[in-house]
Amino acid sequence: MKKIQLTTNTGSTQIAIGEDVSNLKDYLDASAQVVIISDKNVLNYHRVKLEEFGFQIIEIETGENVKTLRTVENIYEQFLELGVERSTFIVGVGGGVVCDITGFVASTYLRGLKFGFVPTTLLAQVDASIGGKNGVNLNGYKNLIGTIRQPNFVLCDLELLKTLPKEDLKCGFAEIVKHAVIADANLFSYLESNLEDIICMKRIALEKVIGDAISVKVNIVQKDELEQNERVKLNFGHTIAHALEKVHKLPHGEAVAIGSVYDAKLCVKKGTLKEEDKDRIENLLKKLGLPTQLDYIKKDAIIGAISKDKKKKGTDVKMALLEGIGKSVVKEVPIEEIGEIL
Ligand code: NAD
Repeated sequence: MKKIQLTTNTGSTQIAIGEDVSNLKDYLDASAQVVIISDKNVLNYHRVKLEEFGFQIIEIETGENVKTLRTVENIYEQFLELGVERSTFIVGVGGGVVCDITGFVASTYLRGLKFGFVPTTLLAQVDASIGGKNGVNLNGYKNLIGTIRQPNFVLCDLELLKTLPKEDLKCGFAEIVKHAVIADANLFSYLESNLEDIICMKRIALEKVIGDAISVKVNIVQKDELEQNERVKLNFGHTIAHALEKVHKLPHGEAVAIGSVYDAKLCVKKGTLKEEDKDRIENLLKKLGLPTQLDYIKKDAIIGAISKDKKKKGTDVKMALLEGIGKSVVKEVPIEEIGEIL
């Protein structure tokens, strides 16, 4: 097991990679009321394990469509019924959707309860559960409403990933590649040379890439928790990805893979990235089974969606640009220029 500590001005998170979910109680105050929030799919596979703790469980529906204020309100109402108090501890057990919603309700109910995560998708383990960003969508626009508040712990049990559909596993690979591309050339090379082991989820390889990907995010969040500049790097591929999610209804990870290739193309066009490095990124994503382009792209709708991006400033968007694999900078890019590469 690998442990990483994330410490910022607002809080501190203990991250345990390769921990067993059955040890969840070790991370909780024995006397506290605990409420678990999870979704239907996760409970379908892991209900028995979770019920053994004897905690109250709130079940939500699955998918990006439930990341709304309606779901949040419904959970608040269940909190009322359960008699949730300031001392109650909330645990989100699920993918990025469950983590984002759990973090948001816990951060806002009674002006903030303590919370922790047991991320059950690869994407949530390497990305969504780390860094304290949580929130919900509004009218299909991603994460427009939210807070930044650090969970007390993130417990990554690799065994839970075994029930994850292949498509969802691939989405996690897209975020791991993103972390490698923006800040860890060694991780990128490791991914290229150990593809088989990673795809077959061999434990040693998986634990290494999850740990390294988390470290990239932790280092960035510790420097810039509130996203003044450095944290925008984690948004590599995401400006276009969020628009693709809204317009083409793609799963987050697939949109990130395609968005990453577009971002890399933009960097080649701007002369900051070599064509062969763009090709390495594209090939690695392809070999991990991810899409890297769409047959048809609704360009105007994509540009329209990017114009509502949270990182938009006038006619520009703050984006991460590559200066090689493992090296990125944050720059303001005219939305028009993004249109040219689509
Ligand atoms: P998800 O939470 O929708 O999970 C994908 C699917 O897998 C769902 O159907 C879920 O029910 C199912 N599932 C989860 N765990 C399972 C398991 N162990 N076995 C079987 N099925 C399981 O999606 P995701 O890809 O985990 O997360 C995407 C979300 O994360 C997006 O909303 C995105 O915006 C958000 N996100 C947030 C951050 C952040 O910093 N807060 C970072 C990245 C992504």
